[in-house]
Formats: sequence, structure tokens, C-alpha cells
Amino acid sequence: MIASQLTPRSRLLLGPGPCDAHPRVLTAMTTPLLGHLDPQFLEIMTETQSMMREVFGTNNRLTFPISATGMAGMETCLVNLLEPDDTVVVCAKGFFGARMIDVAERTGARVIALHQPWGQAFDLNHLREVLKRERPKAFGIVQAETSTGVHQSLEGLGKLCQELGTLLIVDCVTSLGCTPLKVDDLKIDAAFSCSQKGLGCPPGLSPLTFSDRAVAALKARKSKVRSWYLDLTMIESYWGGDRSYHHTAPISMIYALREGLRIVLEEGLEARWARHFRNHVALKAGLEALGLNYIAAPGCQLPQLNAVHIPAGIEDIPNRKRMLIDFDIEIGGGLGDFKGKAWRIGLMGYNSKPSSVFQVLAALETVLRGAGLKVAAGSGVAAAEVAYGN
Ligand SMILES: *Cc1c(COP(=O)(O)O)cnc(C)c1O
Repeated sequence: MIASQLTPRSRLLLGPGPCDAHPRVLTAMTTPLLGHLDPQFLEIMTETQSMMREVFGTNNRLTFPISATGMAGMETCLVNLLEPDDTVVVCAKGFFGARMIDVAERTGARVIALHQPWGQAFDLNHLREVLKRERPKAFGIVQAETSTGVHQSLEGLGKLCQELGTLLIVDCVTSLGCTPLKVDDLKIDAAFSCSQKGLGCPPGLSPLTFSDRAVAALKARKSKVRSWYLDLTMIESYWGGDRSYHHTAPISMIYALREGLRIVLEEGLEARWARHFRNHVALKAGLEALGLNYIAAPGCQLPQLNAVHIPAGIEDIPNRKRMLIDFDIEIGGGLGDFKGKAWRIGLMGYNSKPSSVFQVLAALETVLRGAGLKVAAGSGVAAAEVAYGN
């Protein structure tokens, strides 16, 4: 059997990721391959690392993309920084924090799991208290919890962690390229992200950065890192100094990331964060006009991930299917505690723009009215228009 030519319908990807890649990124990916040790490619690696540092807001020497998705970045941080006798405190306020607990437990370290009801952020005073009491080797937290649309403030945590000798590990998968993140200012020791959300690239890479303190902890390990592929002491010799072979770099994905980072820096980080916020404000006005309420409280709502309660009496799957089939728009459903109860609308990277806002609001209005909800014609779009005008 030979499958038919690859011609899927194009969609507008407004879920939690992947998001649409910037057209320039897709073009960059068609660049002919180079060998992974070709001097031209080594130069491309250096350029990519240098742009990654700028986008992360860091001078960390150990900054490079892991050749796999965001979860591999999470696993890389934990498996490299933890050994069986270590203690780590991990925070879960949603699906991805819960995953971090699971990944941490697999390292054999003693894991102290902190739970916050889904939809809420952690209280900083509570975190300070726990950290002072436990003095763990590492502390892991998600900045942008994609499952609930909650933003977690990291204010003061880095300084406290430094005083306590604790390594601060932050999941920046959905924050990088969307909302303010400055790794050095926040004194983050290990941060990881992905290519397919705020950076406007396809999935496949996990940008990662380690502070000098994290590198020192890595060097001080008593035992071998319990993963061959993700062992930074080995990958470092390819991406770090001597560029010696560890695994074959995914050449086309590095081209993609290089272009994605160029686009971020051309726009400017501050301008990019402001753009995400502006489009979120308009979308939020529209969603609320349609009767959709945010899960996260005002003040901790993520601009790039708008998670709303599905209105009473409205079905989840058939209506998301209508969005996809009738309007070619993908939005996300709920995960874990919010399965069947939430819709998640992503406005990330390339897709954070007025045309996405107006398209999704117009389609949602039609779908919701079709499902029996009373919504005034054009009310969502009109509210967004007013918000853009302000
Ligand atoms: C998407 C996401 C991940 C996982 O990334 P993958 O690229 O799917 O492996 C981890 N953490 C958060 C907060 C995410 O949103």
C-alpha cells in the first residue's frame, strides 16, 4: 500500500501547542542539510546558542537545545541534578507540575510534593516557609501551567534558593517567547522550554539553560547520570567546547529554531510580551461576552493560554469537533481534573494576533449558539474590537 500524497487541510492551531510555525521557520527547514560536524553547521550552532541566551535572558554558558520535546528538557534537568540520596521539593498546581513529581520520583531522589488546587497559583510565603524548613537540594516549579492557564509568580524565590543552597528548576515550556522571563534576574538555575509554543517552530527541541551553580552540582555528582541520552556531561562536549559527536543533531530543527529565535529578537522581547498581552485582553473581552469564564483568577491569567470553563449544558468533544471540522480551528480540551470541563485557547508566538482572536471568537459564537446557548450575534467579536480600541 502506498499512502496518498500528503495534503492535510490546513488548520489554525489555537490549542495548547503545537501552534502554527512562522512561515519563515518552515522555509528555513527546507534548507539543504549539512553534516552535524560541518564547520558551517558548527557556526549555526554557536549562533543559535547565542540567540537562545538572549531570549532566556541569561549569560549561562551551558545553554543549548535538547534534541527532543519539552518533556525531555524537564527530564534532563531532574535526572542531571538529582541523585538517589537528594531531596527535592516539587510543586504541582496542574497537569505539568504533577508530571514533574513523577519524573523526579524516577530519579530515586526523595521527593516532597506540594499540591495546590488546580486553577490556583502557589502562595510565595507558603513556598518560602517550606523551603526554609526542608532546605532541599532542588526546588521545581512550573511558571506557566498550561493545563489551567495559571501564571506562577517566581518573585524572590531565586534569591531565597541561593541563600539556602537550593537549585531552582523552572518549567518555562509555555512562558518562553510569550510572557516575561529573565533567567539571570530571577536567579533560576535550570530552565527548559520547547520549540512549538512561544517560539513559533514545530515540536522537536527543548531549549535548556543551566547556571554555574547547576553546572557545579552536575560536576559534583557522586554517581553517573541515570540516562545516557540526556546526560549533560556528555552532550556538553558536543554543544559545549570540543564539538565532539554525541548524537546526530536534528539539523533541520536547529535551522527552524535559529530562524524562530531570529524572529523573536527582531521583534524584541518586550514588544513580544506586550503583543501577547494585548491579544489576550481582546480575546478575554470576547470570551467573557460569550459567557465563557476564566479558570484562573484575575492577576494570574496567562495571556498565551486562555483556559475557560465549558458552560453548563454544553458538551466538550462534539463542540470542539465542530470548531475543527466546520472552521478548521483547533482549540484544546481539559486535562486531568479539567477533562471535559475546560477549553484552552492558545495565542502563542506567531498565532498571537488579532486575526486569530477574531476567527476563534466568531467560530465559537456560532458553535455555542448551535449548541443552544443564548449569545447575541457578533457580541464576542464586538467586545474584542472595543478592547483593541482602548
Ligand atoms: C507542553 C508542556 C510540556 C511538555 O512539552 P512537550 O513538548 O509536549 O514534551 C511541559 N510543561 C508545560 C508547562 C507544557 O505546557
